[in-house]
Order: sequence, then structure tokens, then C-alpha cells
Amino acid sequence: MKIAFPTFYLTLLITGLLPVFVSSNSFADSDCTDSLDCKSSWLQLNANDNKHVFRYGDDYKNFLDLARTELSFVAEAKKMARLAGFEALQTDSPMTAGARYYAINRDRTIALMVIGETPMTEGVRVVGAHIDSPRLELKARPVYEKEGFALFQTQFHGGIKTYQWTNLPLELTGRVDRKDGSTVYLNLGMNDDDPIFIIPDMSPHTDRGYSNKKVSDQVKHEELDPIAGQRPIATDKDVADQVLAFLKSEHGITRADLVSAELALTPALKSRDVGFDRALIAAYGQDDRLGAYAALRAVMELEKPAQTAIAYLVDNEEVGNVNNTGAKSTFFTTLIASLMSAQNSSTYEELALRRALAASEMISIDVNPGINPKNPAGYEKSNGPKLGYGVNLKMYGQGFSANSEFTARIRRLLDDAAIPWQTTTYKVGQRGGGTIGGEFSRLDMEVIDFGVPVLSIHTPMSISSKVDVYHLYRACTEFLGNAR
Ligand SMILES: [Zn+2]
Repeated sequence: MKIAFPTFYLTLLITGLLPVFVSSNSFADSDCTDSLDCKSSWLQLNANDNKHVFRYGDDYKNFLDLARTELSFVAEAKKMARLAGFEALQTDSPMTAGARYYAINRDRTIALMVIGETPMTEGVRVVGAHIDSPRLELKARPVYEKEGFALFQTQFHGGIKTYQWTNLPLELTGRVDRKDGSTVYLNLGMNDDDPIFIIPDMSPHTDRGYSNKKVSDQVKHEELDPIAGQRPIATDKDVADQVLAFLKSEHGITRADLVSAELALTPALKSRDVGFDRALIAAYGQDDRLGAYAALRAVMELEKPAQTAIAYLVDNEEVGNVNNTGAKSTFFTTLIASLMSAQNSSTYEELALRRALAASEMISIDVNPGINPKNPAGYEKSNGPKLGYGVNLKMYGQGFSANSEFTARIRRLLDDAAIPWQTTTYKVGQRGGGTIGGEFSRLDMEVIDFGVPVLSIHTPMSISSKVDVYHLYRACTEFLGNAR
């Protein structure tokens, strides 16, 4: 990758990894006894809290600019974890309290764990989030020529609004695996002097007939093909040949190598503050690297939790938790089995594993739409989450909510730490979204879905509140650090 070792990690070492972040310990808004009646979370911060909120926001933005897909998320998380004293989990790793390990599933999912004081049979505490985000992807044979342009054939990952991806600077990022076992990593578009890729929209002068169409019909998925080149250098070759020749000479990649490749096109846009007061963050990929980063930071700051604490950051939620790196994979149960076996191989058995899972608790994070000033009608007011009013408990009903006794324990945990929270229930008939939570409640774990209200989810730039992002991280820290 073309990324110099950033000062961000040094900052983390000097400041972020110290547990001074968890400081606020009272609701300054005297009108409220618990979070439901509180005013904006901003009004509950003292000057010191404010500093932490903005510093965490800066760290988070820097991380988002490096972690563009699940592949780069895992690579960056591994670097951070190693700096924070985490080691790769081995079959004979000692299970002493406070030991710090990471386990990576095929470069696309990462688990970070701090071993607890109690045996694994008494259950673990997990914070989970997904690290893939909606994007375009190159097809297996992507390069073609049309009207003198070399273009990429693409498909999409996750739900996107097609019209938002035209005239948007795109980064090409991912890996190409060659037959000899070597891998080429490409990251082109985020540095100022990199070329970008772009899908040209119609000029208003020539779009008659198009502008009368429904928005959803104006740009078809198959039309989302960005420009990859346009300069012919020989009369006997078209520009598609030139692009393939360039890939070969500059990166050692052949046309056939592109079949064994995972190349994504993501918005080549850096994370930015929004508004005069810089209260909000606009960035690509906050769904759900917002949750994943909070879990990552929280687990890295733990020292000796009562129960073993795990951050589980997983691929492929946007396409239904599929494949061997998605939440449906048995990698998680194998990980728990491995930890139990390492702790006491003589007593490990299938039934003990199942009981350990049943005794385990999880916060499954995924962002959800906040009340949008453009169209607040997606929610009735009392059940809609507002930016700047805390993390939200997803109370979707219809069998999807956590049971009431677990919800009560989580309320207590949040209130005791003065972490503002709210709830989310969609209007009846409004569409919701899937999460990874169901894959873990299926294992008989106690799971609650947490969100953070975000505007413009699944668009190239979604918008979050810095104070919510910070409080989510605090909630993860409290949950992982405190026994049931
Ligand atoms: Zn999500």
C-alpha cells in the first residue's frame, strides 16, 4: 500500500490507548434521571469531555481514510492491535488473564480478544460489527472499449442508489492473486496525486428523455462503468488493450489475473467535518466501520476484564452475512472452541462449548437512519433516533428485539456510566435492515442490537454525530469491561 506509517498510530500510543477517555460520569442535564428525557448529549459534556469527543472524532476520521474495505480494515486493525500488544492467537497461547490476542479469518474478518479472569465456560462478552460497506466491484473480465474509452465492467456490493455513483471520484482498491501464490495490492485514488476513476454523467445539453425518467431509471446498474483510460498509443490496439498493457507493465497483472481478484471502487473522498461547529462527520463507509472502530478501540484499551472480551469485526453483512468470512461462517464458534481448548483441553467437549455460548452476551452494532431534516416522516417522533442524542437500542419488535431482561441490564450499564441512549423503532410498514446479530442469537447467545443514528446511510458520504460516535465507544468499553 502507498500509505506511510501515519502519525495517527503514534497519537494512539501516546493518548488514545490510555484509558483516560472514559471520564464523564453524570448527566449534567438535571432535567433527566435517565437518558430518555435528556436534551442533546452535547449539553451533558464538560470541557474535558468535549476534548475527548473531538480527539476521538479525529482518530476515527483518520482510520476511515485508511480502512476503505474489509481488506484494508483488517490490515489497519492488525497494525493497531500489534502496537497495543496483541499477538496472533496460536494453539498453545497461554490463557492468562489479561493476555491479548487477535485471530484473522482469510484477511477479511478479525477478532481481537483480551482473556478474562473467569473460565470461558462462564461465557464471553462480544461486541460485533461489520466491516464491509456498499460499493462497486470489478467483474472478472472488467476491461472493455466503447467509443474510444476503456471502461470497467462493474457489479455492486450492498444496496446503493445508482445515480449517486456517477461523477463521483472513485478509488480502485483491493487485491489481485496470481497463480504463483503472490498477491498484488492496489490502492489508487485517495492520495492527491493518484488518478481517480469516474463514471461520466450526461450533460444537461444532451439528456433530454433522460431527465423525465424516474430517478431510479436514470442510471441502470449495468451503466455504472467508470473510465479506466482514453489514450491510444498504437494504431493496432484499442484503448482497452492499452489499459491491460499498463496493468501488466506497472503492476505485473495479466488479464487472467483479474479473474482471481477482489477490486472494489469506493468513493475517493476523505472524511470531513460538517458545519461551522464541526459537530458532525461526513465520510464514506461509516456503515459500519463506525461500530467496528468503536469496538476495536474499546477492546484495545481493556486490561484485565472479568470475562473474556472479544471484538468481532466481520465481512459481508451488506450481502447477507454470506461466505466463509461472513457472520454465518463457523469461524466464530471455532474461535470460542479454540480458546476453551487452550484454557483446559481435558474438559473441552461439545456440550461445554454450547453452554459457554449460551452464557455469552453480545452487543451487535450497526448504524441506522437518524431523523433526517429533509424527510423526518420515516419515524414518528417519539420512536425515531436523533443525531447527537446518544447510542440507540434497536427495538424493532416482531421477534427481533433483545429480550426485556437483557435490555434492562443494558439500560443499567448505560445509565450507571452516564452514557446517553435512545431507542429506534421504525414506523409500521417502513423498511428496516439486516444486521449480524441474528447469526449470534442463533448460537443461543444473548444479543442486543445497538445502533448510532446516521444520515444518508449507503450513500457515498454518510453523516454521523461526533458525540454519538464517542458515546458508542464508551458503551463498548463499559460492556466489555464489566461482568454481568
Ligand atoms: Zn450496516
